[in-house]
Amino acid sequence: MNRSKSKAVAKTSRRNHHASARARRASHGLSVLEDIGAILSSSHDLQESLESIVAVVAERMSTEVCSLYIYEPRARALTLWATEGLNKASVGKVRMALDEGLTGLVLERLEPVMVVDALAHPRYKYFPETNEERYHSFLGVPVVERKKPLGVLVVQTLRRRRFGGDELRLMKAIGTQVAGIMGQLRLSESLQTKEKERNEYRHRMIDAIQQLRAYEKQQDAPVPDGDDRPRPARLVGVPAAPGFGIGPAHVLRPLVSFDQIGERRSESPPAERERFAKASKRSIAEIDDLKSRMSDRVPEVDASLFDTHRMMLEDKSFLEKIHAFIEDGFAAETALQFTVDEYVGAFARMSDRYLRERATDVRDIGHRLLRNLLGVEEKAPELPVGGILVAEELTLSDLAAIEPERLQGIALATGGATSHATILAKSFEIPTVVGVDSLLEAVEEGDGLIVDGNSGAVYVRPSRDVLAEYERLDREYRAFNRELESLHDLPAETLDGHGVLLEANIGLMGDLAFAARHGAEGVGLYRTEFPFLTYRDFPDEEEQLRLYRRVIDTLGGKRVTLRTLDLGADKYPSYLRRPKEENPFLGWRSIRISLAMPELFKTQLRAILRASVHGKVRLLLPMISSLEEVWRAKELLEEARRELRQAGIPFDEKMPVGVMVEVPAAVTQAEELASEVDFLSLGTNDLIQYLLAVDRNNRKVAPLYEPLHPAVLRAVAATVKAARKAGKPLGICGEMAADPVCALVLIGFGIDQLSMGSFYIPSIKRLVRSIDYSATREMARRVLEMSSAQEIKGYLFGMMKKLGVIELMEIYH
Ligand code: PEP
Ligand code: MG
Repeated sequence: MNRSKSKAVAKTSRRNHHASARARRASHGLSVLEDIGAILSSSHDLQESLESIVAVVAERMSTEVCSLYIYEPRARALTLWATEGLNKASVGKVRMALDEGLTGLVLERLEPVMVVDALAHPRYKYFPETNEERYHSFLGVPVVERKKPLGVLVVQTLRRRRFGGDELRLMKAIGTQVAGIMGQLRLSESLQTKEKERNEYRHRMIDAIQQLRAYEKQQDAPVPDGDDRPRPARLVGVPAAPGFGIGPAHVLRPLVSFDQIGERRSESPPAERERFAKASKRSIAEIDDLKSRMSDRVPEVDASLFDTHRMMLEDKSFLEKIHAFIEDGFAAETALQFTVDEYVGAFARMSDRYLRERATDVRDIGHRLLRNLLGVEEKAPELPVGGILVAEELTLSDLAAIEPERLQGIALATGGATSHATILAKSFEIPTVVGVDSLLEAVEEGDGLIVDGNSGAVYVRPSRDVLAEYERLDREYRAFNRELESLHDLPAETLDGHGVLLEANIGLMGDLAFAARHGAEGVGLYRTEFPFLTYRDFPDEEEQLRLYRRVIDTLGGKRVTLRTLDLGADKYPSYLRRPKEENPFLGWRSIRISLAMPELFKTQLRAILRASVHGKVRLLLPMISSLEEVWRAKELLEEARRELRQAGIPFDEKMPVGVMVEVPAAVTQAEELASEVDFLSLGTNDLIQYLLAVDRNNRKVAPLYEPLHPAVLRAVAATVKAARKAGKPLGICGEMAADPVCALVLIGFGIDQLSMGSFYIPSIKRLVRSIDYSATREMARRVLEMSSAQEIKGYLFGMMKKLGVIELMEIYH
């Protein structure tokens, strides 16, 4: 039989097999993964997904009610989170302690609970809000992720009935899927936030290489007939990590592949199960080993990728599917292949980009299991020095073997912005392009390649012109970076001796390494809500303290400004119920949430106070729009201090407290606010959006978001004046500080503490070291007399040219 025919036969037999397997499990007509796949393909957030899941479960199990309760470990309570059948208005309101009700019993026991007549059960508890009294039968299963309870999934029926073993197994499988989805979507949210920060850099870089496009056009010119030497090719992918990589291609091929297996059958299912169990055990050990080897190389959020793989290897429904195929007479390899195909297909159909890209993880896990089934040892790929890595996709093991200094670039045929390869390539700062069409068809081992991680282009066998142009660009880029690096230990001081403090804005622990590398002199803004976004529940006082101490200890005595939670608007952790709001940026966000949840706020305040004995800590309150808010926050801070004193826990009694000026009202009242606190910090990201009524995240109005608008500059100047009058220090932590033109004016206004994304620190330092403070004073005075952004920009660009610092703009803008 030829190859394609045997493939077709295999496909038909697989299809037949799927049909029989489906029929076998058709007692409820439910294939858990397919249902969940369908739900996720039409939904984009956690809440929406959970609501759809309960609706589908109720329908497919023919129960009147299906509800999901989320567990809050701190409060040791369960809250109704999504329901089909109970009163929807009670969502978020029905809350029960673990020792209350049958639902609490499920979590208490961490086992399913089935009761035919719930009303007669001693643990039955009635919640009037839910209209619950009519439901008799109850089946609840715990939702557990890696032994951590996340919640309880419950179905209830009107008539008294017993749930069968199949239904129980089905509910357990759904519980596992729900747990997985909750974990993955939480990670997705945190990655998206991180992604946004990095994108900014990319946009800036793309503009800097516009000149190159002229060369590309030349390359697209037709090649004369009769010339069949391998042609230069320009492939297009998704830019994943910035920079340019030039070097020979090293094509990585997988150690094992399902293509080499064919369809294998076995006479002995127990023996196959045993083989599979061994391979699975070995695979789990490999993942654990990889994780511990990588733990000091990647930030904590990125490390959870390894957990995703481990979870999948232990996933009940994944394993059940493989076992079902084995029972049907297939060898473990083939059972694995069928299951992986089904999962990959289901993920590929999902509309959520993050979940779609998880297909790569399933394939990776499939290959790992297959390799262990075949007894092939894991082998780290040998990567030549100075080469460009080319592959269909990278496995976690490939990534673990990467030594950033040996590689010039990475080009992958698959993958997207949130695939693990992309995430880790970014951590390593290797220029990377992913999702490159026809990559493996176009590239041979040893071919000359250029990977342009800024625009997403991959040049195969580039012409001399293109190569020369990229080499020039690369040289300039490196020289510029080297020059910036050489400034690392030098002070940010103007030519006439005026010192400026350059600090870093950080969010995730991974940012700490960047802050150190780029010479930050402290942390001017730690956005504490970022780690909160990656947690399963509000981190408790001890967890927060650990987090803050890690930042303080890493900074080794440098000043750290901890901003209290700035949640809400576009930043919602999965465990905080998102209210429906017409204008979330004008709604329940930031300090408003903190003041509405005083106990949670005090927990954070206590953690910050406790952290204050370990270094130079300042506390910063976000989004302040009135004195009342400052008074209330100070009251709660005083309570937190009192509680610590009573408990005999030490803290810095003199820890400075400041407020952010990022709402127009705070500008107007800056002097009164300043007299209430120890320092002010200008948050221009929000201030610009509120002052100009321009959404900071809306691309459509992006041209209107203008930091050099006279109204913005006058507001900044007014705040400086107010702080000076009150005798309090003022810094800035908005992105405006990272823009060289704006930085000139800010320094000229007399702001001498600038905090920004670490990446921009070296270039702003270079700017500071190239100018006279007196010149910036003059510029600041002049711009306040101007009445349009156009006039201000024209003047400032002219001045930058005159001062010889214009090339800073060319590289970054
Ligand atoms: C700001 O608004 O300028 C600021 C620094 O805070 P964030 O960007 O976190 O809103
Ligand atoms: Mg802000």
